[in-house]
Amino acid sequence: MHIVIGAGVIGASLAFHLARAGAPVAVIDAGRIGGGTSASSFAWVNSHNKAPRAYHDLNVAGMRAHADLRAAFGHAPWWHGGGTIEWEGIAPEAYRRKIALLQSWGYAAQWLDHDQLRALEPDIDPAAVGDAPVAFFPDDGWVDPVVYSHALLADAQRHGAKVFPHLAVTAIRRQGSRVVGVTTADGVSHDADVVINCTGRWADQAALPAALRIPLAPSAGLMVFTPSLAHGVQRVIFSPRVHIHPDGAGRLLICRNDLEVAADAEFDSRSPEVTGLLAAAREVLPLLRGVDAEALRVGVRAIPADQFPAVGPSPDTEGYYSIVTHSGVTLAPFLGAAAADEILNNAVRPELETFRPRRFFL
Ligand SMILES: Cc1cc2nc3c(=O)[nH]c(=O)nc-3n(C[C@H](O)[C@H](O)[C@H](O)COP(=O)(O)OP(=O)(O)OC[C@H]3O[C@@H](n4cnc5c(N)ncnc54)[C@H](O)[C@@H]3O)c2cc1C
Repeated sequence: MHIVIGAGVIGASLAFHLARAGAPVAVIDAGRIGGGTSASSFAWVNSHNKAPRAYHDLNVAGMRAHADLRAAFGHAPWWHGGGTIEWEGIAPEAYRRKIALLQSWGYAAQWLDHDQLRALEPDIDPAAVGDAPVAFFPDDGWVDPVVYSHALLADAQRHGAKVFPHLAVTAIRRQGSRVVGVTTADGVSHDADVVINCTGRWADQAALPAALRIPLAPSAGLMVFTPSLAHGVQRVIFSPRVHIHPDGAGRLLICRNDLEVAADAEFDSRSPEVTGLLAAAREVLPLLRGVDAEALRVGVRAIPADQFPAVGPSPDTEGYYSIVTHSGVTLAPFLGAAAADEILNNAVRPELETFRPRRFFL
């Protein structure tokens, strides 16, 4: 039996690949499916600012795995393509160098003139762009992470997996250096050949023995949701001060991926962080003038202490594997497939070698 702790995008993707390979799987989540960080994410699928090269390549592998998954399902209601339109607040030459580097790595990126920009996104105010060079990334997209998590777990269940939402793992059971199962909040002991920690921002929690925790450096981000609007936005807009994409039923999701807020802070429509995001969004999309936030959400990023993914076994421990990462929406389909390969086939995937948890225990 393979016990996956956590039913966010990462746990769901892993369970999907394990179950499709014919392995017995149980997925246990303390809350609802996809209800953790996956429910509070900008969820942009991209590899724009993902240095160094190994991390960029991992994110590109995530993008390709998303495409493979869409092809495998045929109908992929969690996926929204359309690409990204981006201009940045850095000097034009520096931005052109950045895009040239991405292109030299094979990343799909092209320049737009003002007419092309207007044709793609007529709601963007040209004055907000000014003379900045504008790039278009046709292979980018965004995901509805909760829909993705449900779809992959439903498929896993059709392949024999068992899913237990609203059931917390309270302890990891060990015999010597081997993990042999978990105990859940109802007092039941579950035996496992391998336990896989997909608990994201909770990967350093007390229920895990110290040697199995992933050190985290979490930060929180703020998301502003508009009411339903008659807008024409069809893709991710990544401007210097605000990032925007549609969020279904005419709503827009407004965020700034590098904005950090206190995870326990209370926000309302008058909070400076909220009014600041809306003001920046109104400059880009004048149709937002007079529109207030309909909902606000704070998401806590699942970030290992050195910012990079932690994927693999823990040192000196058998039967235990972790997958903890930021950019998890981009990475989930690839990490789920690669980790399942390692867990089931004793493979050592070179793409993961830079990102092993052992680096935290040296
Ligand atoms: C503001 C913000 C913006 C982001 N933007 C992007 C982006 O643009 N692109 C991108 O790719 N990524 C983005 N991310 C990151 C991405 O959302 C996360 O990396 C991803 O959602 C993590 O998924 P996960 O499955 O690891 O964690 P989660 O979705 O948090 O799932 C972990 C699950 O573990 C469960 N759990 C924890 N402890 C236990 C226990 N003891 N027993 C049972 N269950 C347990 C929780 O209930 C939870 O459901 C963003 C994140 C934030 C917060």
